[in-house]
Amino acid sequence: MRLADLTTLRVGGDADVVVEPATEAELVEATRDAWDSGDEWLILGGGSNVVVGDEGFEGTVIHVVTRGIERVPAGEASLRPSAYLGERGVRLRVQAGEPWDDVVAHAVANGWAGIEALSGIPGSAGAAPIQNIGAYGQEVGSSLVAIEFLDYLSGEVERIPAPALGLGYRSSVLKQGRQGLVVAIELALSDDAAGRRALSHPIAYAQLAAAMGVRLGARVPVDELRQTVLELRASKGMIWDQSDPDSVSAGSFFTNPIVGENFARTLPREAPRWPTAPDEPDIAVPLGLPAAEPAVRSDYRVKLSAAWLIEHAGIGRGFALPGSRAAISSKHTLAIVNRGGATAEEVAELARYVQTRVFSEYGVRLQPEPVLVGVTL
Ligand SMILES: Cc1cc2nc3c(=O)[nH]c(=O)nc-3n(C[C@H](O)[C@H](O)[C@H](O)COP(=O)(O)OP(=O)(O)OC[C@H]3O[C@@H](n4cnc5c(N)ncnc54)[C@H](O)[C@@H]3O)c2cc1C
Repeated sequence: MRLADLTTLRVGGDADVVVEPATEAELVEATRDAWDSGDEWLILGGGSNVVVGDEGFEGTVIHVVTRGIERVPAGEASLRPSAYLGERGVRLRVQAGEPWDDVVAHAVANGWAGIEALSGIPGSAGAAPIQNIGAYGQEVGSSLVAIEFLDYLSGEVERIPAPALGLGYRSSVLKQGRQGLVVAIELALSDDAAGRRALSHPIAYAQLAAAMGVRLGARVPVDELRQTVLELRASKGMIWDQSDPDSVSAGSFFTNPIVGENFARTLPREAPRWPTAPDEPDIAVPLGLPAAEPAVRSDYRVKLSAAWLIEHAGIGRGFALPGSRAAISSKHTLAIVNRGGATAEEVAELARYVQTRVFSEYGVRLQPEPVLVGVTL
């Protein structure tokens, strides 16, 4: 089977074997079988965050399609995620193959808040914790309680609480190398509507607040927020839709670089930059000592805009290398799109070109956001 057909970027050669187990029990069994066989294996959800090489995949691809959303008992309060608001909440267990946006739509339809700004992100629920999906000021980590995980090392299914997942900006221990299969995720959402129209969590993204005509921090009806996010995303080609050539991508191709404060000062004044969230800098405080302000300010990390760096390195929307069928999206410079029939190598060539231009202009090496399978940059 051609993996191009299972990925949103529509590149990738054949896989030796693709299995699509129908139930959770079969999914776990098929994954253990693939591990026991000693062959190469790859877990694939919606294929929206991978770039698979033209040579395909020599081994077994486990395509996760198990679906189901169920309400489960609320459990211990200590496992409530940080963004949980108010006293009333719901706990959901979602099977890994459930399309993520169907989870958001289900929550919004029921008046449950916490993931509404993550509307329209392609892919599966099981992949959501892998890179701690985020958009418009929300991240799944704020609503994630735990995952059920088939661990490659032990071969057993264990429940891992969200705080043990090392969730950060587009990152987790699962993206950094802990191997296994996410079988299901558990979410805690707010349920404070009490008969009134459900309100979102406070808006934490200026562009979204502006689009809704409210101030940052405002709470608005969840269904209106979802609608606005879907419209904003569609205007940037960030909702996967085969009829929109700007969306035939793996989403943002590069993460926003995080650099030291001193380095950030060397960039042009107009380059956008944000101090990273308080939990992102690694500042170790020995046990028993009070947390002190770091003496050296350069310990702070600063997040830059990859889109700004790309544009100002001279690569505009719609850019393509001569003769290539891969291009920068005409709606947004962070996405590399397949304009029809592109190979993985054409995508990689363009990505390398972007990296080289940005590096020679600003000294920043952009890192790819998607997982590369048989592709090197
Ligand atoms: C148009 C577009 C817009 C996007 N916008 C955003 C955005 O706003 N924010 C954002 O964060 N991302 C965005 N993405 C990226 C992508 O949608 C997310 O990363 C999504 O979570 C990937 O899900 P998936 O099921 O497609 O994962 P896949 O692409 O199938 O897999 C990605 C990685 O996760 C692993 N994996 C998948 N499922 C499992 C599982 N059950 N257990 C263990 N490992 C697994 C795979 O092995 C692979 O390493 C966008 C992508 C596209 C195409």
